[in-house]
Amino acid sequence: MPTPRSFKQEITCVFGQPVAENPTQLMIERAFAHHGLDWRYLTLEVSTADLGDAIRGMRAMGFRGGNCTIPHKVAVIRHLDRTNESAGLMGAVNCIVREGRELVGYNTDGQGFVASLRTLADPVGKSIVLLGAGGAARAMSVELALAGAAKITIVNRSAERGRELAKLLTERVGKPAEFVEWRGDYRVPADVDVLVNATSIGLFPDIDARVNVAIDSLRPDLIVADVIPNPPQTRLLRDARARGCRTLDGLGMLVNQGVIGFRLWTGIDPDPRVMHAALQEVFG
Ligand code: NDP
Repeated sequence: MPTPRSFKQEITCVFGQPVAENPTQLMIERAFAHHGLDWRYLTLEVSTADLGDAIRGMRAMGFRGGNCTIPHKVAVIRHLDRTNESAGLMGAVNCIVREGRELVGYNTDGQGFVASLRTLADPVGKSIVLLGAGGAARAMSVELALAGAAKITIVNRSAERGRELAKLLTERVGKPAEFVEWRGDYRVPADVDVLVNATSIGLFPDIDARVNVAIDSLRPDLIVADVIPNPPQTRLLRDARARGCRTLDGLGMLVNQGVIGFRLWTGIDPDPRVMHAALQEVFG
């Protein structure tokens, strides 16, 4: 006789990515299966014009939550009931959670990075340099500031974007931040503890693209992190390891942001090894 099972399915969804081959869907659905949850994580492509209707649909259909990606991370906020503190400061949401009758916006990108960093070092009191000032850098720098980093330096090619992020950190998060315009090879100052590539340089298929950093300024006591999950072993991380640095890859950050979302939706602490293995199948 077949084992009786419940057919009630709770659903999370992701907006904004092509439907085929979504690595996050694979990672989350593996974790649902591993933890015996009869849930689904669907990938739904939604146009900018339809975003409001899609969120109303989530409410009507009783979704537990979802992720949203570019180009919806900022626009989605006005369709939600509220955001948590850090997503409000960043002005960007990548994770939606139903709390009672409300849909609440979180941003797990930065928290995922902080969780990865904590496997090597506590951010409290650290001097951290972020290369880049886009969405990922914004999320990471706000969370690092809230987690107690002593000093944050934003290094970016576009001065306007870099200055704006340093201003946000200083004025809204209350963490004085410095902006350095990125021209030529950046030399990592001797007092820096953590260097993060938060740009899209090195993402497949441009896997040999070089992050303009003076490799001889990478000291063995420096932690070097990269947001790029595909491929996880970037040129920057290979160079850093050759210099004796400890490194963190973008796959770990992606798993950690998935762990945080999973916990928010289900109340269960998922096994990160199952999620990591799923992503490794995709990214190698
Ligand atoms: P954005 O487009 O918002 O920002 C891109 C940033 O990269 C900008 O600061 C841009 O500088 C900089 N940049 C791009 N190309 C160059 C270049 N050739 N030289 C110098 N700077 C450059 O992207 P996101 O911040 O949203 O994403 C960045 C990366 O982070 C993506 O590859 C994404 O896959 C990854 N990511 C990884 C996550 C994870 O969990 N591992 C989570 C979220 C993102 P400028 O302002 O001058 O244009």
